[in-house]
Amino acid sequence: MSRFSAVRFGHFLPSLLLLLGGFLLARLAGLNEFLTSLFNVLPTLLLLLGGAFCLAYGRQREVFLLLTLYLGYFLLDTQVDHFREVGQVRSDAALIFHLCSLLLPLLYGLYAAWQERTHLLQDLIARAAVLFAVGAVAVGMAQRFPEALLHWLSRVRWPALQVEWLALVQLAYPAFLLGLIALLVQYLRAPRPLHAAQLLGLCGVLWMLPNIFILPNALNVMSSLIMLMLIAAVAHEAYQMAFRDELTGLPGRRALNERLQRLGRSYVIAMADVDHFKKFNDTHGHDVGDQVLRLVARQLSKIGGGGKAYRYGGEEFTLVIPGKTLEECLPHLEVVRQAIAAYRIQLRDPHTRPQDDKQGRARRAGSAASHVSVTVSMGVAERGLERRNPEEVLKAADQALYSAKSAGRNCVRSFDLRRGALKNDSARA
Ligand code: GH3
Ligand code: MG
Ligand code: MG
Repeated sequence: MSRFSAVRFGHFLPSLLLLLGGFLLARLAGLNEFLTSLFNVLPTLLLLLGGAFCLAYGRQREVFLLLTLYLGYFLLDTQVDHFREVGQVRSDAALIFHLCSLLLPLLYGLYAAWQERTHLLQDLIARAAVLFAVGAVAVGMAQRFPEALLHWLSRVRWPALQVEWLALVQLAYPAFLLGLIALLVQYLRAPRPLHAAQLLGLCGVLWMLPNIFILPNALNVMSSLIMLMLIAAVAHEAYQMAFRDELTGLPGRRALNERLQRLGRSYVIAMADVDHFKKFNDTHGHDVGDQVLRLVARQLSKIGGGGKAYRYGGEEFTLVIPGKTLEECLPHLEVVRQAIAAYRIQLRDPHTRPQDDKQGRARRAGSAASHVSVTVSMGVAERGLERRNPEEVLKAADQALYSAKSAGRNCVRSFDLRRGALKNDSARA
């Protein structure tokens, strides 16, 4: 499967909503007293609570992203407060603002693209050293040569590109561009919620900076929401780690157990097991086996009738269909079983890959050697008077699965609760 197929809008959705909320709140002329006080303390609270949460999960990257954002927020907030109280900017406002415009995207981009190492303490020390070195140089230069630094920062290097609506110093834009490209490439190489949040976070910073003296709440609100975005993405991934099966992307056993506790009065549970999968693994290798499990999972996840597929473990899957009777579910299960049996899986294993184009063409044209197929057997049971709790229904589905295996595999068998008997529901293909 290509990496691009793992790109999901869902990775961006929570961050996009927060970003949108940030735009709207920052644009409001006056926030009420409660929101104003909230956004005054939120960046500090988020740094402390979110930082502790990220540290606990070994997410050093996010700790330093939060720290970088907070430092930028802190420096700029002093300026914005002064501007709001006195009605004019402080004498060092331009220098601080331009320095932040350059260093914020550079440090943010660097920390976001810098993958965590296995040795967490070393990683922490290396990141802290970078922050300390950059901070020390910036503060030293700003104190000793403020005018020269300001001149260097604000010099127009590319007059042709100087347009009025670009409100930051020219140097800031290559820094943002570099950061955005690095984070986009990172997301495309490894599509996950955290990488999406980091990318959108930098977009938020790019929007926020030119607006901090124009919109009174832009700095507080946007800094808070970008920090929240990163923390939410860490929480999102922690949830996925606990509830999603990494190989197939289906919800895993823990998610199934949770679902089983919330089922109503009528539901159907089916157990599906890949036929002769051990032999398949032995013949084609474990990697091809994994590829097949992903494909089977994808077909199972298309189950109709409001059903949902879970990876039970190994090559076994569970389908939960709430609010339906067994008779209503059988056609849906049958459709999925047939779809899996009919699917021709193209082998992408390096050992079975054609050596060259000629061989590849010959294979595609003639033999079926580069294609394989698998079948699944299913056992299905519904809740009834004799079996009232989900564990019993699941056990009955498992018994029906055994009977499907004994009946020759590649078929659906149901456990008829009214008669306590096993029924043959589909003929072998
Ligand atoms: P049956 O038709 O009776 O179900 O036979 P089977 O060979 O499918 O059943 P068995 O339980 O003997 O073998 C299951 C195999 O599934 C053994 C194990 O190597 C393989 N398996 C379990 N989990 C994974 C996995 O994550 N990836 C791969 N590639 N194989 C797995
Ligand atoms: Mg099995
Ligand atoms: Mg099996």
